[in-house]
Amino acid sequence: MTSVSLQGSNNPISISKIICVGRNYAEHAMEMNSDLPTSPILFLKPASALLGTGGIVVRPSISKELHHEVEVTVLMGKGGKAIPERSAMEHIAGYGVGLDMTLRDVQSEAKKKGLPWTLAKGFDTSAPVSEFVPAGVVSDPHRLTIELRINGEVRQKGSTADFIFTLPRLISYISRFFTLNPGDVIFTGTPEGVAETVPGDMLEATLGEAGKSLARLNVRVEGSE
Ligand code: MG
Repeated sequence: MTSVSLQGSNNPISISKIICVGRNYAEHAMEMNSDLPTSPILFLKPASALLGTGGIVVRPSISKELHHEVEVTVLMGKGGKAIPERSAMEHIAGYGVGLDMTLRDVQSEAKKKGLPWTLAKGFDTSAPVSEFVPAGVVSDPHRLTIELRINGEVRQKGSTADFIFTLPRLISYISRFFTLNPGDVIFTGTPEGVAETVPGDMLEATLGEAGKSLARLNVRVEGSE
């Protein structure tokens, strides 16, 4: 899968890249024993990592520790380079909920050796995303809530009100270095509560605003041979 959908539209939207933000919530930086960043920490996932709702996250055999990170996802509608903060919100087509699936043991080893995170973060099925809610449906993008349940039990909860870097700041910063194209997806960082998920688990993530559910994502975890 390399395309996503926007509620109310029949045309699938092709994705060219997925840009992820690390440590955008102070409580998560603390649980990882990491410093608070002074500018956004960025990494990429390939479009081939995308997975739609109803899909199966496959943990590669090189890992024994698959972690969940529930995140608000942003779909770009209008591209641009060095987008100013004041007009950045006009570039957003919609909002969704996604899971930045992470091979934590592989990532920890890479961090220790100073190696890239690509394998830990970009393997096939590492980027499950819900469908996107058109930006016009959301009244305040900095009051969106996300929640992750595993086998019915709440594991992570967060609000974009707690972002270290706001959406205009992220879009402006990212587009200084990466030209943004329509259809690019941004994973905006995870709140605290990241932990292991094992084969057989059912993950259900929701995006909401003022108690109303806007989008939903359901995936199952499996191990590979
Ligand atoms: Mg993340």
